[in-house]
Amino acid sequence: MKVGVIGGGQLGRMLALAAAPLGIRCLCLDPARDAPVSGLCEHIVAAYDDADGLDRLARGVGAVTYEFENVPVASARALAARVPVLPPPAALEAAQDRLLEKNLAQRLGIPTPAYRAVDDRRSLDAAVAAIGLPAVLKTRRLGYDGKGQAVLRGAGDVEVAWAALGGAPLILEGFVAFARELSVLGVRGKDGATAFYPLVENHHREGILRLSRAPAPGLTPALQEEAEAYCRAMLAELDYVGVLALELFETGGRLVFNEMAPRVHNSGHWSIEGAETSQFENHIRAVAGLPLGSTAPRGHAAMVNLIGTLPEPAAVLAVPGAHLHLYDKSPRPGRKLGHVTLRGDDAQAVERGLERLREQI
Ligand code: AMP
Repeated sequence: MKVGVIGGGQLGRMLALAAAPLGIRCLCLDPARDAPVSGLCEHIVAAYDDADGLDRLARGVGAVTYEFENVPVASARALAARVPVLPPPAALEAAQDRLLEKNLAQRLGIPTPAYRAVDDRRSLDAAVAAIGLPAVLKTRRLGYDGKGQAVLRGAGDVEVAWAALGGAPLILEGFVAFARELSVLGVRGKDGATAFYPLVENHHREGILRLSRAPAPGLTPALQEEAEAYCRAMLAELDYVGVLALELFETGGRLVFNEMAPRVHNSGHWSIEGAETSQFENHIRAVAGLPLGSTAPRGHAAMVNLIGTLPEPAAVLAVPGAHLHLYDKSPRPGRKLGHVTLRGDDAQAVERGLERLREQI
């Protein structure tokens, strides 16, 4: 079987690498000739809305998936008329709009920050009055890695944020004074079976994920159950097939929904070495209609993103328990170039590995 993947970045690359041992090949669509999948799997060089490129993708595969959430919904729907598109385009549509995804979460009883749609300056003032400050103003669409958002701490910030972001449809959210950021990854098969990875603790800087720890330190069964309940509800509502990530805030011992990603997720990279079945393999299994694999962790893991510059591979690999993943991308400030996963039998061993890694890179 061949699986089509819209997008040929590092997620597509790791999907293709996980598919190969299952006898499944990937055919990726990406406009960049030097995309990270090039040389690793078949690659259609075309824009995401190019009719000929989409036609070649549909003709060549048994199912289509995607590795980023800004795939044009019209392309996903056009493909879905010809070949199964999984996760379903409705999941893509919801995840592309912060207002729609929060409405969806609310409908399912998943707690969210207070939020209001902001379409003009007057509705911004009304939203600030209703929600109070601090608050976060975000573009509804096309925001990622902290781009397209501004924190409003005092009244003076309102005008500045409006000058920066006004014009596009926006959402104002109450600022969550979270204890930490977590994510849960769930996977649902074509038969409706589900499995969930342990909650992961995520650390961001400048809006970009830097470090994940899995399972999240101090994870309690109650918190895991809460996360799984939210993820399960979302998977069922969307008749979802594949891996779904929910980004969550932990506050007061409870979880608050931030956003979702209808795809494999950076906070799940640890699972390649750190879980019985990686998120990439489980996504491919789900999309191909195969039984899901166990999501049980193998000990403890931490994942460090390599951003902007690359360390000496030998220095990384000298750290016990370290596994290096390079994405074949040319260095550029702020660009995710690879990651390192540290796996160990206990959390202390992983922390020791992190210390060593910090010394090395
Ligand atoms: P996002 O692109 O929505 O994931 O936001 C990027 C980062 O901004 C998150 O990882 C949080 O650290 C922070 N953030 C986003 N929304 C809120 C919020 N409502 N309250 C506090 N921090 C937030």
